[in-house]
Amino acid sequence: MPTKTFDVIVVGTGAGGGTAMKLLCEAGLSVCAINSGPRTEPAKDYKLHRQVYDLKYRGYGNPMRLEGKPHQEPYSVEESEYSEASDIFEHDVAYSNAPGTDWYWKRCKGTGGKANFWGRSSARFGDIDFKAADLDGFGENWPVDYAEIAPWFSKAERYMGVASTVQNRPSNPDGEYLPPMPWRCIDYIIQKGAEKLGVPYLPDRCAQLTVAHNGHPACHYCGNCTRGCDVGSFFSPTWFTIPEAEATKNLTLLTNALVRSVIVDETGMAKGVAYVDRKTRREIEVYAKVVVLAASCVETAHIMLNSKSRHWPTGIANSSGQLGRNLCEHLYGSPGYGYLPQLLGQPATPDNIADSTVAWMPRWQNLKNPHEEKFVRGYSVYMGGGCGEFPGHYNQIEGFGSEYKRAIKRYYPTPVGALIQAPTLPSPTNYVDIDPEKKDIFGIPQLRFHFQWNANELMMWEHSKQVMIDLFKAMGGEMWGADDEPNRPGTSLHETGVCRFGSDAETSVTNKWAQAHDVPNLYICDASIFPSSTDKTTTMPIIAFTMRTCDNMLSNFKKGVHQRT
Ligand SMILES: Cc1cc2nc3c(=O)[nH]c(=O)nc-3n(C[C@H](O)[C@H](O)[C@H](O)COP(=O)(O)OP(=O)(O)OC[C@H]3O[C@@H](n4cnc5c(N)ncnc54)[C@H](O)[C@@H]3O)c2cc1C
Ligand code: SF4
Repeated sequence: MPTKTFDVIVVGTGAGGGTAMKLLCEAGLSVCAINSGPRTEPAKDYKLHRQVYDLKYRGYGNPMRLEGKPHQEPYSVEESEYSEASDIFEHDVAYSNAPGTDWYWKRCKGTGGKANFWGRSSARFGDIDFKAADLDGFGENWPVDYAEIAPWFSKAERYMGVASTVQNRPSNPDGEYLPPMPWRCIDYIIQKGAEKLGVPYLPDRCAQLTVAHNGHPACHYCGNCTRGCDVGSFFSPTWFTIPEAEATKNLTLLTNALVRSVIVDETGMAKGVAYVDRKTRREIEVYAKVVVLAASCVETAHIMLNSKSRHWPTGIANSSGQLGRNLCEHLYGSPGYGYLPQLLGQPATPDNIADSTVAWMPRWQNLKNPHEEKFVRGYSVYMGGGCGEFPGHYNQIEGFGSEYKRAIKRYYPTPVGALIQAPTLPSPTNYVDIDPEKKDIFGIPQLRFHFQWNANELMMWEHSKQVMIDLFKAMGGEMWGADDEPNRPGTSLHETGVCRFGSDAETSVTNKWAQAHDVPNLYICDASIFPSSTDKTTTMPIIAFTMRTCDNMLSNFKKGVHQRT
């Protein structure tokens, strides 16, 4: 049982926590990082470079693998036969959905978290996002502006390595980029079609190394990213921040340690955390001068809501009542998919082997005027397809036997599909709280989701379907169809909002430095502080804001606001 008091405890070792522990260790602080699951070990856990026909269950995994687990729902894409033996996905800690809610909460509990398997899209937010409430009157502004955050985006991009181009788009500030990912054949055809509609089609900002960077090798385009990279050619904590933190010798890393709450001293300030050792099921306390929560958005709120004491009867640092509220998400779904007949019968030369968001349609709606469309704000679209390792169009073609195989081959280079990324607005009916009745197998009260799609994002969904009909026509494509419904909420993994930051302690959980208003030695380093969702993804901004938060915390240590042990 550890008795030492650390300078800082960091809960979570993902994009946010990994960055925090690296920076704090490098500054000479003693850091205890606590991670819910085991250590992720690429050599053992990633079974890349194998064809699905070399795997017993053809990549789908043992159908009985979740038997007896409290949370039996399989996760898509990232959890597959390629990683199934490694116990790095969360199926022991159950959660609940309020009636009418169907939240899909995918969690990677191995060290490094979800960024071991992420999609790597890494665009900057801009003032169009930070000041959106001023522009259209909905929600709250962020307590920062672009000029203040831009240097941190640069630091994050320079550290991670992000491939893209300078584009001068009003909704997408440009950054500091490695050479862009090579385009697929389909990208040139889509771009021509999109041009006719006035829709931008440009290289995405992708945290995948097109050249060697900061000691990490260039990508060798094996296309296995979503199963974890075995050489570290895209940013992940496993290959970047965790080894760098460990190299300082200032890190104590506790694994299989599920934090249940932040514990407080007699004045209500954070004193440490209580965690359950998964192997022994014993509850253990560990102490520090400062606590950083980076357990990933809704799990950070879960820990805080479960941190009840006489000082904090509704959860730690919740005098505003905003803890758990303002849950935002990206609406995902395919508004259109089909094929490009002009490519039928072309040789099946693999051109989509990077498995990345090579190109996208950055937000083009409501740019000149925030109320041009029926909806406010705007969405972006990623286009998938091309000649990949696996024929994603297998379920679009009817047939059997050799005739079916011939059709698969004929269509191999042609498929194209869209994925919309539409932000939700904060809504009083979208939030998380603690289920008053249900506990998980470790005795921890479960997190409960309350979430519905609202009219604004559903209008974007309908809008994107019409855009796809027009685009397929403009690029000479044939549509096979579109999703009837958006994907389940939670699918995007870009949830935000449940510990929002702001200047007013009465309406926000933390200040602009992600330091809890009520408990100044408690910081948050994940997307829970972002008050709203944008048309961009969250991970690079999580890293940039974490860098800024740690910088501020270190200056608080220097000024004596926080004492060292
Ligand atoms: C397939 C896929 C594609 C994605 N594509 C993109 C993309 O293109 N662009 C993008 O920006 N983002 C993308 N994401 C999302 C991205 O991965 C996340 O935004 C990011 O990893 C979140 O980092 P985090 O540190 O906040 O949380 P996580 O990565 O979830 O890390 C949380 C850490 O906290 C630990 N933890 C959790 N609960 C506890 C607890 N109670 N006690 C102790 N430890 C705890 C976990 O073990 C984990 O290590 C994608 C994710 C996936 C899986
Ligand atoms: S395509 Fe590149 S980044 Fe992805 S797994 Fe292969 S080497 Fe790694």
